[in-house]
Amino acid sequence: MDVLIIGGGIAGAVAAMALRKAGLNPALYEAYPTGADDIGAFLTIMNNGLDALRAVDAHQAVVDNSFAADQVEFLDARGDRLGLQPLTGDINGPRTLTRATLYRVLHDEAARRGIPVFHGKRLVSATRDGKIVATFADRTTATGDVLVGADGIHSVTRSIIDPAAPAPRYAGLNIAYGYARDAALPVAANSYRMIFGGQAFFGYTTAPDGQTWWFARLPGPELTEPVPQPEIKRRLTDAFAADRSPATDIVAATTDDIHLSNAYDVPTTPAWHRDGMVLVGDAAHAASPAAGQGASMAIEDAVVLAQCLRDLPTHDTAFAAYEDVRRPRVERLVATSAEDGARAARGAAQDVTDRQDTRAWLYRHHIDWDTRPGT
Ligand SMILES: Cc1cc2nc3c(=O)[nH]c(=O)nc-3n(C[C@H](O)[C@H](O)[C@H](O)COP(=O)(O)OP(=O)(O)OC[C@H]3O[C@@H](n4cnc5c(N)ncnc54)[C@H](O)[C@@H]3O)c2cc1C
Repeated sequence: MDVLIIGGGIAGAVAAMALRKAGLNPALYEAYPTGADDIGAFLTIMNNGLDALRAVDAHQAVVDNSFAADQVEFLDARGDRLGLQPLTGDINGPRTLTRATLYRVLHDEAARRGIPVFHGKRLVSATRDGKIVATFADRTTATGDVLVGADGIHSVTRSIIDPAAPAPRYAGLNIAYGYARDAALPVAANSYRMIFGGQAFFGYTTAPDGQTWWFARLPGPELTEPVPQPEIKRRLTDAFAADRSPATDIVAATTDDIHLSNAYDVPTTPAWHRDGMVLVGDAAHAASPAAGQGASMAIEDAVVLAQCLRDLPTHDTAFAAYEDVRRPRVERLVATSAEDGARAARGAAQDVTDRQDTRAWLYRHHIDWDTRPGT
């Protein structure tokens, strides 16, 4: 079975490896000419995401290019500790890496396994007449038996499957990411420090080379144009000035560009598949960043979809089984993340901290490659 995968991001690259392992014939079509690795943010692959990577033998490459977090410490705006959440520190524990590194590692793995990757291929339409024909912005086409839409939160495939599909929802937050180097900054080695500030949320960790990796979630209107760097720094400094935390020092010590973007989510997508086309990852569902699970869920989706296509007689039955298994879990995650974000924004820090203890359903998820999903 020839599988056209649209989008060479996290879900797309993992789907390609999983489908290849399942004995199918995938090819990846990515819109950007050299890979969509120009985004400076970092992310954390959680225990469940790493478990899913292990199912397709791709976890080691991620582990080798990332660093561990063994715990999360929650603090309030006065600097008082609200809670400490241990995260397993073994190989299955969360791993932090830049988004660009993750894309590169997954693409290298896919290439090593002989999967064809085509860049500069932006899907604009797809039709089915026996086979699926995908048409790209450069007027070329590709033909396959099924099409997997792994084209992210602003998915074109989602609109092709259902032109009435709800658009992504602005989560009311701007997200900033930066990297600072200053020996005087506090060290959070192998851990995250998360601070519920009076006006905004701040998190940081210390990489093995001593650099501070940090992010901030600022409530505010949706950005419609790029914000100049001095203005970004001013907004951040204003937001954290009244807190007893290292946030303003960390922002001040950031010499490279700070990356600022909007947070969106997609709480539910009514149609996940139609006419031999199916959605995975953010194209099907996207969580606001509070739970830090978007990448892990995309990886889980990709593996389960490949298992279903391997184990079921037709792609229609496979897509239906995949949706049955995945939809309840991912929609629960999107709702949980939105609640966490809203509680943090209104200062209910202790609520969010207490809720962490009930997250075993998220982290302890396991995919057995040899077992049919849902059985
Ligand atoms: C700033 C930020 C920080 C985040 N932090 C975290 C975190 O800490 N932990 C976490 O788990 N998640 C995090 N997430 C969420 C996570 O990045 C996403 O959930 C994850 O990337 C989803 O993977 P995906 O493959 O579905 O989509 P993407 O990674 O977005 O990949 C989609 C790919 O499709 C390509 N594409 C788009 N349109 C087309 C088209 N028409 N034709 C061809 N190709 C196309 C894009 O170029 C891209 O390469 C964060 C997200 C953002 C924006």
